Amino acid sequence: MEEYLLLLKNYIKKQIDELDEGKEICQSIKKQFQQIRRSLSNDYNELNNQFKEIHDDFFYIYRKIDLKNLLDKIEIALKANCEHICCVDYVDINEYRMQKIQYCEKCWTEFSK
Ligand SMILES: [Zn+2]
Repeated sequence: MEEYLLLLKNYIKKQIDELDEGKEICQSIKKQFQQIRRSLSNDYNELNNQFKEIHDDFFYIYRKIDLKNLLDKIEIALKANCEHICCVDYVDINEYRMQKIQYCEKCWTEFSK
């Protein structure tokens, strides 16, 4: 069960990263198109229109909302279904202070206290 959920979680996380990356690339594609559009033939305008139709601003916004909702649900399911193996670790807050953190070594869920 955890293995399935972990795979799913990692996959969705990757999708979100790729979506962020894709959004940036998409913006530079649109910018470049603006700069060269006058010198392009109609064929290229048509191509760009098709691209824009599929990749409007809402494409990224809604897709990210969907993926994040799904990720939240997966994390809740993981937390509820994993037979946690609790680990304790210390992380530096600054030069002088450390903070104790507890997490599950199987699903990486963090527990407060
Ligand atoms: Zn766990």
